[in-house]
Amino acid sequence: MRHGYLIDMDGVIYRGSAVIPGAAEFIRYLQMERIPYLFLTNNSAYTPLDVVFKLKKHGIDTTTEHVYTAAQATAEFVTRQKPKGTAFVIGEGGLLTALSDAGYAISSDGPDYVIVGEGRVLNFEMVERAHRQLANGASLISTNSDTWCPTDNGPRPGCGAIVALLESASGKTAYHVGKPNPFMMRAARKRIGLATDEVTMIGDTMETDIRGATDLGFRSILVLTGSSTRDMLQDYPFAPTSVVESIAELVPAKLLVA
Ligand SMILES: [Mg+2]
Repeated sequence: MRHGYLIDMDGVIYRGSAVIPGAAEFIRYLQMERIPYLFLTNNSAYTPLDVVFKLKKHGIDTTTEHVYTAAQATAEFVTRQKPKGTAFVIGEGGLLTALSDAGYAISSDGPDYVIVGEGRVLNFEMVERAHRQLANGASLISTNSDTWCPTDNGPRPGCGAIVALLESASGKTAYHVGKPNPFMMRAARKRIGLATDEVTMIGDTMETDIRGATDLGFRSILVLTGSSTRDMLQDYPFAPTSVVESIAELVPAKLLVA
């Protein structure tokens, strides 16, 4: 049977600035066997080209067609809702580039949307301007609902935490486009050209990767090298199809001894 993989990156392929052992071998195995795969990330700070460059440093050779970010999904979502609209953006290059490529203008003059992504560019003036655009009728969109992200030095607040601030201030509720939203999960499946029962999602986070896969009817593999632990499994009414210690367990044994 045909099958392919949607692969989360942070906590699966790398953790902070370090590659997870077995990741490069697993991707090479997929490439050798011509098994379809797509890196699927909620991080909207980077463009697909940035991601390819980062993966290359980790010994993984791939191309931009194998990368799908929440920034791209968000640009597709707003384009579907309102083609060639305007947005006030709190986010970084990945999000700004995706919106621009989709024909969106960045504006703080009565924009259609306030769009929040991952990044470290936040200051109070931006929050204040975003709040004012929301009060003037803009809708609130976020690339993802992750409230925190792991870094080499410990956790940092994620996109979802910034959005919570704006929700509280404005009284508006954000629409989160990234995983586990079926909008992004379905778009990813279409990109690798597979049917629902041919797709397996590999991820480290129950709330996004495994939930998204469950909602869409994909198989799922939880790796324990990231945010979710084995003990956390009992807190969820859904479970991954299987659990492995790390992506290294998915590399066929014949490759490991070769
Ligand atoms: Mg992850």
